[in-house]
Amino acid sequence: MNESNAIYHEMGLSDAVLSFADAVEATLTAPFARTDAIAARNQAKVLLAMQRCRVNATHFNLSTGYGYDDEGRDNLERVYAACFGAEAALVRPQITCGTHALALALGANLLPGNELLSPAGAPYDTLHGVIGIRPTPGSLAEYGVTYRQVDLKSDGSFDYDAIRAAINDRTKLITIQRSKGYDTRPSFSVEEIGELIAFCKSVKPDVRCMVDNCYGEFVEDKEPTEVGADLMVGSLIKNPGGGLAPTGGYVCGKKDMVDRCAYRLTAPGLGAEVGANMGLLTSFYQGFFLAPTVVQSAVKGAIFTAACYERLGFRVVPESGAVRRDIIQAVELGSRERMCAFCKGIQAAAPVDSYVTPEPWAMPGYEDEVIMAAGAFNQGSSIELSADGPIRAPYAVYFQGGLTWYHARLGVLMSLQKLLDAGLIELK
Ligand SMILES: *Cc1c(COP(=O)(O)O)cnc(C)c1O
Repeated sequence: MNESNAIYHEMGLSDAVLSFADAVEATLTAPFARTDAIAARNQAKVLLAMQRCRVNATHFNLSTGYGYDDEGRDNLERVYAACFGAEAALVRPQITCGTHALALALGANLLPGNELLSPAGAPYDTLHGVIGIRPTPGSLAEYGVTYRQVDLKSDGSFDYDAIRAAINDRTKLITIQRSKGYDTRPSFSVEEIGELIAFCKSVKPDVRCMVDNCYGEFVEDKEPTEVGADLMVGSLIKNPGGGLAPTGGYVCGKKDMVDRCAYRLTAPGLGAEVGANMGLLTSFYQGFFLAPTVVQSAVKGAIFTAACYERLGFRVVPESGAVRRDIIQAVELGSRERMCAFCKGIQAAAPVDSYVTPEPWAMPGYEDEVIMAAGAFNQGSSIELSADGPIRAPYAVYFQGGLTWYHARLGVLMSLQKLLDAGLIELK
């Protein structure tokens, strides 16, 4: 027993797991250095935006009621716009989640008779109801907005011929999802998104392009709005909230499009002028300030997870050496028992609810049972360390988040320990 490992032994970690993890980590200098360099540039980007917007203590003041003349709220929106190279932004606690932000952006910028095009396959599951792919009250389809989709080619690339053919007189808005979410396709790089947008605009110059940026913010040193996206949308309990924002969402991009979102969020004529901040501005500003290093931690956790499980012979997506496009790491564990043990480990390493045991359950709306491990300060926050997955072949768990790299690392170590204790892996 190594005495300097005493604290880890107290947590239930064995020397076998600790030395395995050290050996894996020693191979990760290059990808970690790349992640650090991106975080350094993104920290400067956020800092410069805050300085240019002359953030000061009055910007953290509480507003209630209508929220008229809320300078702190308005300035936060200028900070987001400046950082992301956008004309304007709407950053609000009244935007309840990522799906709401996306529904807002779509509903505000599509009118009856317009068509929405998804040129890179099916959008995130929750958007099926919003668009009306799955008949749902209040969907865009009910308002006479049609939808067209072009799937990726079998090699995962954009089907440019089919996209050209799909763009027509009615095509008003194009929606592109940066992260694969829980799909199996690769996530897109910002550069790839820029190329796709340029192509769509070469076919129809006045078409508008929006990007679902969920899970993507600060993973690269550029965002989609810096490569031609007209609108970009995300959730504050994912990357840009930095783990501190307790709720909220954002849209940023072209001013006319953001204005329309504001009119739709509140009321035509009122727009962004109303909306109390309810005392959340410190968490929004400070979370945005911390977001580049929080994302850095989450990305390191994802790389480390990939490297550990790859070494044990499991298929991981993306592979440990791949350049990261988002914070999600899939590990195909091949059995229900391994999924449960993995999630037990993540749960046991949590700062909140560490004593509970995650069990698979029949979650409403899902065909298969789902297991989830999360012990977060903000409910449902997926920038905080969590793991989940549907109990079905290939028995993949999706690992994401980690407010600090050391916590993400401990989560992975605990997952390995639980698998080892249950005789479900052999450490090599
Ligand atoms: C999380 C996510 C959403 C939806 O966000 P919610 O906050 O869960 O509503 C949409 N698109 C992608 C790619 C996501 O990862």
